[in-house]
Amino acid sequence: MAYLALKNINKIYPNGYHAVHNFNLEIEKGEFVVFVGPSGCGKSTTLRMIAGLEDISNGEFLINGKRANEMGPREREVAMVFQSYALYPQMTVYDNIAFGLTLQGVDEDVIEQRVKNIAGILGLTDYLDRLPRALSGGQRQRVAIGRAIIRKVGVFLMDEPLSNLDAKQRVTMRYEIAQIHRETGATTIYVTHDQTEAMTLADRIVVMKDGYVQQIGTPYELYFKPVNVFVAGFIGEPPMNFVRGKVQNGKMHFGQVELDLSKKLKDIAKWEGKELVFGFRPESIELGQREDAYPFTCNVELTEMLGDYTNVYITSDGAQAILKVDSHDTPETDKDLTFYVPFENVYLFDGETENVIAGRED
Ligand code: ADP
Repeated sequence: MAYLALKNINKIYPNGYHAVHNFNLEIEKGEFVVFVGPSGCGKSTTLRMIAGLEDISNGEFLINGKRANEMGPREREVAMVFQSYALYPQMTVYDNIAFGLTLQGVDEDVIEQRVKNIAGILGLTDYLDRLPRALSGGQRQRVAIGRAIIRKVGVFLMDEPLSNLDAKQRVTMRYEIAQIHRETGATTIYVTHDQTEAMTLADRIVVMKDGYVQQIGTPYELYFKPVNVFVAGFIGEPPMNFVRGKVQNGKMHFGQVELDLSKKLKDIAKWEGKELVFGFRPESIELGQREDAYPFTCNVELTEMLGDYTNVYITSDGAQAILKVDSHDTPETDKDLTFYVPFENVYLFDGETENVIAGRED
């Protein structure tokens, strides 16, 4: 039996807005699950329904197989870390972390031992006497996390906990959150709009769009086996390139380009006259000639050197794409470039439903 189960969960706000549609998910004990998607897709609403901060309009939420829809937040044994740190400014780091246990009247000795243990995990041992205003943003967020994890609850819920930090602090905290999870083994549900955070932290990712779950899977599955254009374009950085074209005489046409799709799609005849989306990732191309690949020639507009790799912005017939190449192979701008997309790295999507019809075998 799964530890947490969401069965056909829906949220309709009092103003009639249907924010979450038929959300289904089972979470095992100790799993790290990330809800990801663009702003407004229903991630926080779903998290708040799990926390007990928002009513579930219909559907069922189960904890250890027991209906929890009507349970209050305390009874659910969840702790939530919000985007804003919400620390008590007049209390020291020690007192902020200890607060939940102090309220419960836990023994001072026990509190001290737990605070010290958690401060050790979070690298806050030397800061216990400080007030929040004397800490960096990253340190404050660690205190907020400490305050949440000191209570021995079943589930940690985190809503964009890193969004107030700068880029460098985010990377450090991401690592620390992964470490804390490894050490505590606590079941965690984490909300973010950032696909990199999702990919690096999650055991499983739930991709959402407009209140609907698009796909649930491991980072590997989402990257290599996206179910539709949305997931394919959302996961991966820079995003997957897409070109649309119609199938005529078994070939896909866009601009001057003609592609023999029978190499990729056995039942190409079925798609005659229909529109398809051809997708390939910026990093899954090659510059050296290959037989088992689609060749493309484009104009190089701009290159961005990012260290070991370079992003190459290309155009052809008004279509734009990005390639990711080894910096040693950086092409010249304003010149033509021929590159090859191996058949195995091509994704094809139905132009109408945008669902995948051919992808990777492995
Ligand atoms: P996310 O966390 O993915 O950014 P939210 O779950 O916060 O999205 O919001 C999902 C949708 O529900 C948004 O369109 C938002 O405007 C709407 N929404 C959120 N809270 C309310 C509310 N109290 N009343 C009506 N609509 C709301």
